[in-house]
Amino acid sequence: MGARLYELNTGPNILKEKELVKQMIELYCHKEHHHEQLCNECQELRNYCLLKLSFCRFGENKPTCSNCKVYCFSPIYRQKMDTIIRYLGPWLLVYHPIFIFKYVLNK
Ligand SMILES: [Zn+2]
Repeated sequence: MGARLYELNTGPNILKEKELVKQMIELYCHKEHHHEQLCNECQELRNYCLLKLSFCRFGENKPTCSNCKVYCFSPIYRQKMDTIIRYLGPWLLVYHPIFIFKYVLNK
């Protein structure tokens, strides 16, 4: 048995963020790409985000991604998420005001 370098994150904060990320990407794909199911591109982005959250080194104490100094997202995915958050701004304001406060206004 070797030492495990990473524990997968399974805490409530991470789970909540995963759920939110999934919702955002699904909504974005639905509105912008007019897909019922996620298109390939969005599916890839979603998987990438979920993976990154699972392995976030801060776990339950993670800062919001936009404030994080580690920048674990590669630039291309960061940009995609940025686009989605901007696109969904008004929707987030209604359903997830705390989220938009943390992610957008804090920038
Ligand atoms: Zn899509």
